[in-house]
Amino acid sequence: MKAMVLNKAKTPLEWTDLPDRQPGAGQIRVKILACGVCRTDLHVLDGELPNPKSPIIPGHEIVGRIDAIGSGVDGLSIGQRVGIPWLGHTCGVCPYCKAHRENLCDAPLFTGYTRDGGFATATIADARFAFPLGETGSDVSLAPLLCAGLIGWRSLVMSGDGKTLGIYGFGAAGHIVAQVAKWQDKKVFAFTRPGDTGTQAFAKSLGAVWAGGSDEAAPEPLDAAIIYATVGALVPLALKAVKKGGRVVCAGIHMSDIPSFPYNILWEERQLLSVANLTRQDGIDFLALVPTIGIVTKTTTYPLQQANQALADLRAGKFDGAAVLLP
Ligand SMILES: [Zn+2]
Ligand SMILES: [Zn+2]
Repeated sequence: MKAMVLNKAKTPLEWTDLPDRQPGAGQIRVKILACGVCRTDLHVLDGELPNPKSPIIPGHEIVGRIDAIGSGVDGLSIGQRVGIPWLGHTCGVCPYCKAHRENLCDAPLFTGYTRDGGFATATIADARFAFPLGETGSDVSLAPLLCAGLIGWRSLVMSGDGKTLGIYGFGAAGHIVAQVAKWQDKKVFAFTRPGDTGTQAFAKSLGAVWAGGSDEAAPEPLDAAIIYATVGALVPLALKAVKKGGRVVCAGIHMSDIPSFPYNILWEERQLLSVANLTRQDGIDFLALVPTIGIVTKTTTYPLQQANQALADLRAGKFDGAAVLLP
């Protein structure tokens, strides 16, 4: 197999020949057809997340077909199309796993961070954490759903039932969540980098009733806001934008420091919370809805060997939607 490998944080990924791997008990081998690029990959690249596997093959939005099955795997077959998400393994016995909160497992493995991921021609996955994808939808269009879609879905659920929703940071997750929220009859207000009129127009094309810079006030008070951008300074802005009892959900794995803010923007039962990872149930719930909602992802594709370019373009905000690597 071939892979784009991160040998050391803050260095470019290197195109590497690796021996083919065999699935162990409970595992599958997947021939990769497409792998999305996520902002978390930049955090892995930049060494911003603790205790990564090193060297590591990044990538956790994998669409592929099973081409080998280890012992003890039930319900999956050779040739079946599956998606491999960020949550790659959980212990099953810690208090969080037992309480159906496996997203907070005490001993998890994460695809493309603490176990090898999808910037490669093949990967080995824990079979229990692979989602059957069926045959509807192209490999490229499905790839961003495996993290941006799933984390987006979890954060949308956590934002509550309010009808007015602010989305701060309109990238891969934002553009999927806007479509789901519209389907739920919510009014979406999109906040982008100040002056980014291209992304604001993109947000409106997906049904946002308003789009503007994150430095602008929302035109009406919001029931909830979800922050996908990695900018801590957005937290007090979002708290100011939500009404009494409103929620602000921080959906990123990493964020710059949050500046201090006056208590009165949190008071009146506003809630500030974060979303971490996903559960398999999130994936089952969300992927079942995808065909009904008719989510269309906007993607820019790159050959796998150009992963460094895709990551650089993501960092620079050069495309709307999501980048997808093709082996
Ligand atoms: Zn991700
Ligand atoms: Zn656990």
